[in-house]
Amino acid sequence: MNNNEVLWNNFLEVLKTKISSVSFDTWFKDTKLIKKENSKLLIQVPMTFHKSFLNDTYYDLIDEIITNITGNSFDLEFIVEDQSTEDEDEKIDINIIYNHINSNLNPKYTFANFVIGESNRFAQTAAVAVAEQPGKIYNPLFIHGKSGLGKTHLMHAIGNYVTENSEKKVLYVTSEEFISDFIGINKKQGNNYDIVDHFKKKYRNIDILLIDDIQFLGGAEKTQHEFFHTFNTLYDSNKQIIISSDRSPDDLKLLEDRLRTRFRWGLTVDIYPPNFELRCKILKDKMTGHEVASLIKEEVIEYIATNCENDVRHLEGAITRLYAYSAIMNPKEINLDFAIEALKDYIGKSIYINNNITKIQKAVADYYKITIEDLKSKKRTTNISYPRHIAIYLCRMTTEETTTKIGLEFGNRDHSTVLYSYDKINYELKDNNKLKIILEEIKNNIVN
Ligand code: ADP
Ligand code: MG
Repeated sequence: MNNNEVLWNNFLEVLKTKISSVSFDTWFKDTKLIKKENSKLLIQVPMTFHKSFLNDTYYDLIDEIITNITGNSFDLEFIVEDQSTEDEDEKIDINIIYNHINSNLNPKYTFANFVIGESNRFAQTAAVAVAEQPGKIYNPLFIHGKSGLGKTHLMHAIGNYVTENSEKKVLYVTSEEFISDFIGINKKQGNNYDIVDHFKKKYRNIDILLIDDIQFLGGAEKTQHEFFHTFNTLYDSNKQIIISSDRSPDDLKLLEDRLRTRFRWGLTVDIYPPNFELRCKILKDKMTGHEVASLIKEEVIEYIATNCENDVRHLEGAITRLYAYSAIMNPKEINLDFAIEALKDYIGKSIYINNNITKIQKAVADYYKITIEDLKSKKRTTNISYPRHIAIYLCRMTTEETTTKIGLEFGNRDHSTVLYSYDKINYELKDNNKLKIILEEIKNNIVN
C-alpha cells in the first residue's frame, strides 16, 4: 500500500464511525486518493453526481477528519472520469410546524435491502442524495422504469431514511390515492371549505411528497389541476417532491404540458431491468437468513435468474414458491431438479420444456468455468464462442428442439448460426479424440 492508500484508508475508517452505512457505501465506497500535494488532495469519485454532492455536503467533514489525521488542512478537489455538467440550485430549507400526518411508509423497504447493480445504481444514488438533502438538490426527483424494478421500494427507502434521520414530515401516496382524496372532497362536501382546507393542508404542509405511479393521474383533469398547485406550493417552499412513473415525463401523454414541464426541472432517473448478475445477487440477498438458505445450490440461483428475466417481483415469486415447496417436501438439499419441480407451473411451460437446453447450457458453462449468460451473450472471444458451439451442438444432438428454438435460447441467434455451430463441431469431431472425450464428460454432467 502506498502512502496515499494508507492515508485514505485511515480516513475511511474514521469516517465510517461518523456517518450511516448507507451514506458511506453510496458516497465513499468507490473513492480513491489519487494525489497528495503540499496543500491539495485530489480525490477520485465514480460520478459527477458524487463530485457535486461531496463538495456541497461532505466537504467540511472530510476536511475535519483529514486535518485530524495529518495535522494539516488541505484543499479538496474531486475528479471524475466523465465530466458532464449538472445544474443544481441550492435552496434554503424552511422549517414549518406541521400537523401530524400518517406518512404511509412501509418500513420493509429500505436502502439497506435494496440490492444495487448497473441497472439501478444511478437511481439509487440519486435517491440517497435526495434522502440526505431533501428539497435542496434534484427537485423533483423523477424515477421511471417498468413495473417490478424497484421504484416503489426506492421511494419508501427515501421516506424511511428521512423520517429516521430528521423531524421532517413525509407523505407517500399513490396517484390513485391522491385522486380519491380529491374526488372524495368534491363528492361528499361540495364547497365545504373546512374539508377542502384539510385536503390542502394534508398535501401542502409536508416536507416531502412521494407520489407513486403518476401515470394514473392522466385523464383526471381536475385532479391534475390540484396536483399542479400542490406541486408549485411545495416546490416554491423548497419541499422535496419525488415522483415515479412507468414511463418518462415525455411519454406521459395524458398529463398536461405544464405538469410535464415541471417534472423536467429536477432530475430524471431510469431503472432498467436487472442483468443476470444482478438477478443472482438479488436472489442471494433475499434468500439469506431463511432457514433453508444453506440447502440451496448455486445452480438453483442460476436457474431462477435465467428464467425469471424481466423484473424483481418475478424473482421474489420464485423464491416464495421454492420455500413453500421445501416446507412440504423437506428436501435434504435444494438442487436444480428440486427447483425445476417446485417452479414448473410458475416458470411456464415453454420454459419448462426447454429445461433440456438450460441443463446443457449449465453443464457446458460449468465445464468451461463461464456462465450461462456468457453463452447467451454477444461475446465472440474464443473462450466463450467455442463453448457456445459445443453447447449448441449438444442441444442439436440430444434434444428434440428445432434450430429456431435453440437459436432463441442462445441469445436470440439465427437458426443458421445454430447450423453453423453444429457443423463446425461435427467436422472437428471427425479427427479430434480429445474433443470426443470432453463431450462425453459434459454429457455425463448434464443433470437429469
Ligand atoms: P415498482 O414500483 O418499480 O413496480 P417495486 O418497488 O414494487 O417495483 O419492486 C417490486 C419488488 O421487488 C419489491 O418487493 C421490491 O422490494 C423488490 N425489489 C426491486 N428492486 C430491488 C432491488 N434492487 N433489491 C431488492 N429488492 C428489490
Ligand atoms: Mg410501484
